[in-house]
Amino acid sequence: MTTTNSTSRMEAIVSLCKRRGFIFPSSEIYGGFSGVYDYGHYGTLLLNNVKSEWWKNMVQTRLDVFGLDSGIFMHPTTWKASGHLDGFDDPQIDCRKCKSRFRADHVLEEFGINADKQSIEWINIELDKLRSEKKLVCANCGSVDLTEAKPFSLIVKSNLGSPTSELSDETAVYLRPETCGGIYLNYKNTIDSLHPKLPFGIAQIGKAFRNEIVAKQFVFRTRELVQMELQYFHHPSQTQEIYDQWHKDRWAFYLEYGIPESKLNWHKHDKLAHYASEAYDIEYNYAMLGGFKEMEGIHARGDWDLTQHSKFSGIDLSYFDEVTKERFVPHIVETSVGDARMALAFLDNAYTEEEVGDPGEDGKRDTRVVLKLDKRLAPVKVAVLPLSKKEELSVPAQAIWKSLSKKFFVEYDDTQSIGKRYRRQDEIGTPYCVTVDFDTLTDNAVTVRDRDTMEQVRIPVDELLSYFTSKLL
Ligand code: ATP
Repeated sequence: MTTTNSTSRMEAIVSLCKRRGFIFPSSEIYGGFSGVYDYGHYGTLLLNNVKSEWWKNMVQTRLDVFGLDSGIFMHPTTWKASGHLDGFDDPQIDCRKCKSRFRADHVLEEFGINADKQSIEWINIELDKLRSEKKLVCANCGSVDLTEAKPFSLIVKSNLGSPTSELSDETAVYLRPETCGGIYLNYKNTIDSLHPKLPFGIAQIGKAFRNEIVAKQFVFRTRELVQMELQYFHHPSQTQEIYDQWHKDRWAFYLEYGIPESKLNWHKHDKLAHYASEAYDIEYNYAMLGGFKEMEGIHARGDWDLTQHSKFSGIDLSYFDEVTKERFVPHIVETSVGDARMALAFLDNAYTEEEVGDPGEDGKRDTRVVLKLDKRLAPVKVAVLPLSKKEELSVPAQAIWKSLSKKFFVEYDDTQSIGKRYRRQDEIGTPYCVTVDFDTLTDNAVTVRDRDTMEQVRIPVDELLSYFTSKLL
């Protein structure tokens, strides 16, 4: 079987993720909970690697970027100042017959109409045109009885700090819809504690919550998500140069981790949020979702955020440049990407079906499924596989596992045939398998199998640590 179209590729990847313990639907034993996913052993390792490589690239290897981990809950005025309470909406339409719910801008996109950031009035005019041409039908049941579009707020409310029975506009606090809010509120703390000079950035990885109208397409769009965001503060005269540099850096990031340029695309926003001067997305060609979709946003936000938070808090958030003696409100360029949306791109890119071995009696060759993930992203780096469970092999095999696992995430597996164990490691993307066999007892060497080429080499046990250090780090 080979996955030739996006639907079967989606099914194959979703099934692998469940079968191999990467991603599970939330609350399955209670019938599921839409828009939320749980990450199993390998999914957790993959996401941890995605986050740590992003962090390494964005914080560890830069002198001008500082880390932050702010609370999910913030003073509710944060979201008044940012405009989220008044306008963080998507346009919703419903089918009166089958009660299906849709995002009206996505419905218009199906007709080639770009409704990104357009007003409800504009969207309803376009929907009416389609209605009059009898083209507007429910994608689920085919009914033409669809409602007008209306705004649907994406912000999730909670009554944290108030009695459980109370939830009103006065008591409401919000689960942050994006992580950058915490960065703006800690801009002054960062300046006062670390004393950085402009330009500098603050980076944060954390949960955000969005009451998405339709949460589908697997983990591409979820209601609980993790964002990896950078806000880069600078003098307004530097915006273009800084913006161009982040474009280059973020594009290069994806190339470095194995995504070919042919699968990436720049999408320029035609209609901008009122504060933005320019906005681009890096799109990835999600074969499993049928084409190019936003993976990461890179936006020039002007001085909107710090100006608004200054206004609403009464705290001066301007910057004084000691050299030029100029006082101004810093402008911001942001980069923002969901960890799962990025991981899904890496999974989609890595998922490979290959014919292997000689043809069988039916003339067909076997198909192996392999995740050709960049080694830095692979959940498990090495699997140690003794050919027998007998003590004479398990003792040296466990000693190898122990010594390697101090440095790498290493798995130990002594179940099933060696062929099945190789296939299992291929499916979770393990770059190297170490087979401990009876020859090991005499030559003190093991067979190391490469995931991608399936080539096997004999390596002395004493050299394994340095061998993998050179291959994996
Ligand atoms: P979309 O147009 O897909 O709804 P957006 O333009 O609202 O996304 P931003 O607010 O710019 O997205 O968020 C920045 C990034 O956060 C996105 O590029 C994406 O990687 C991630 N992201 C946003 N919403 C979701 C979601 N519901 N599920 C998963 N990731 C998300």
